[in-house]
Amino acid sequence: VIGGGDSACEEANFLTRFGSKVYLIHRRDELRASKIMRDRVLANPKIELVWNSALKAINGSKESGVHSITLESTTEKGKETQLEVNAVFIAIGHIPNTHLFKELLRLDENGYVVTEPDSTKTPVPGLFVAGDAQDHVFRQAITAAGSGCMAAMEAERWLESQH
Ligand SMILES: Cc1cc2nc3c(=O)[nH]c(=O)nc-3n(C[C@H](O)[C@H](O)[C@H](O)COP(=O)(O)OP(=O)(O)OC[C@H]3O[C@@H](n4cnc5c(N)ncnc54)[C@H](O)[C@@H]3O)c2cc1C
Repeated sequence: VIGGGDSACEEANFLTRFGSKVYLIHRRDELRASKIMRDRVLANPKIELVWNSALKAINGSKESGVHSITLESTTEKGKETQLEVNAVFIAIGHIPNTHLFKELLRLDENGYVVTEPDSTKTPVPGLFVAGDAQDHVFRQAITAAGSGCMAAMEAERWLESQH
């Protein structure tokens, strides 16, 4: 598994149900994931962490599948290692599914919709944006649900104002 956030940790833990060994490869020397996810990974004897490494190549063929990966050190220039693996899972983040709105709304440089401060309002009357589409900081179920509630209340107020 390539990555160091919650998604990568969750994938790595999940895959230990099926694989005898899971490498979690991260370009830094500490995980960005939340404490609970980090602890789960560190306590899982089937997971081996490979620090300061970035994926350079996936080696194999269509016929035989993946047989190894080439890793590049992020701390020692030019240092490469080969790791024998049967599969590769990339868990390095998400692109918000907001491209539909790029002509209509303001998106930040990562594609998140920019709403008014402390609000789900957008410049388009009656269009409110909630959850992970506009939150690049927390991206949690409870914060998404909270902003969903804000959007519902703001939408209701807007509808009222339209009689
Ligand atoms: C691997 C992983 C682990 C996570 N673990 C946790 C955790 O432990 N605790 C926690 O609090 N949060 C966790 N999260 C985050 C949490 O899942 C999200 O913050 C939350 O689901 C965001 O809710 P949302 O409604 O904004 O977006 P989503 O849940 O992504 O819902 C968006 C919905 O919109 C639909 N959609 C997309 N495009 C269109 C379209 N064009 N037309 C109609 N519908 C469309 C999608 O199908 C989807 O159903 C995790 C996320 C991931 C990926």
